[in-house]
Amino acid sequence: MKLPSYEDVLLAASRLRGIAHTTPVLSSSWFNAQLGAQVFFKCENFQRIGAFKFRGGYNALAALPPEQRQRGVVAFSSGNHAQAVALAAQLLGIPAVIIMPNTAPATKKAATLGYGAKVVEYDRLTEDREQIAQQWVHNTGMTLIPPFADAQVIAGQGTAAKELFDEVGGLDELYVPLGGGGLLSGALLSAQALSPDCRVYGVEPETGNDAQQSLAQNKIVHIEPPRSIADGALTQALAPITFQLIQRYGAGVVTVQDAELIQMLRFFAQRMKIVVEPTGCLGAAAVWNQGKQLQGKRVGVIISGGNIDLTTFSQLLAS
Ligand SMILES: *Cc1c(COP(=O)(O)O)cnc(C)c1O
Repeated sequence: MKLPSYEDVLLAASRLRGIAHTTPVLSSSWFNAQLGAQVFFKCENFQRIGAFKFRGGYNALAALPPEQRQRGVVAFSSGNHAQAVALAAQLLGIPAVIIMPNTAPATKKAATLGYGAKVVEYDRLTEDREQIAQQWVHNTGMTLIPPFADAQVIAGQGTAAKELFDEVGGLDELYVPLGGGGLLSGALLSAQALSPDCRVYGVEPETGNDAQQSLAQNKIVHIEPPRSIADGALTQALAPITFQLIQRYGAGVVTVQDAELIQMLRFFAQRMKIVVEPTGCLGAAAVWNQGKQLQGKRVGVIISGGNIDLTTFSQLLAS
């Protein structure tokens, strides 16, 4: 397996220039004062499609050779990856098929259709989405774009941390939401090149700590489908490529509870005036839990996305 390097992140950055947003880095003097630290929030909730996934999706599609582009791409996701691939395909003029559960929220289906992708629905209880995707690949010659287990996807995601280091300089610690590990792997590539002494942490929901278990056992651990409001981090296992990168660059993994995510979601809304989805709150919640241990440190946090329906958002604010 060929692992991506920082060179691939640089190539991704050049492909994304003028296409992805350079998202803002915000800070809160209140948050800093509570911890006695300097915390820099990289706001990927302001990225196109509302999450960092546009970076990896676009980079993976832009890296395809012409004949593969012509045949099109297929992705399975009910979340941000679906919209990332659909928008990237539209921008590059590539046909796209997105495989979604028939229970996916109507807004998500509409958004994906709005980017011109074809949506194929399946029944979560009786059908296997990977099998359906493989059928499309087999029958049409389309290329499958995985949400994290792909070198170009990882390189694209790495441009988020690259921009953060480019803007604020070296950091002591960086906290990154962790599902399948694409964002964390990319962040590790950028940190190792731009701030080699920075300690990088992936942050999982406590109920879905497969990566933490995997590091402890030195092998990829599969867990039962976890329950958490962090719906972008409910993956049951890392992929070999992300596991290898996380091990190689010595990332730490910490966990947080749903109640702590809600507390951060409220903090972002009330103090910082930004909408952050629960999964996007993972990094900030982990930093908050460190309390005074981060005193005097320069700390980065990637806010990974802001896609949440307003009913759920208002319920979490009021809960
Ligand atoms: C996909 C996603 C994650 C997890 O990213 P991985 O690359 O799978 O680790 C975190 N936050 C949001 C908002 C996401 O969409």
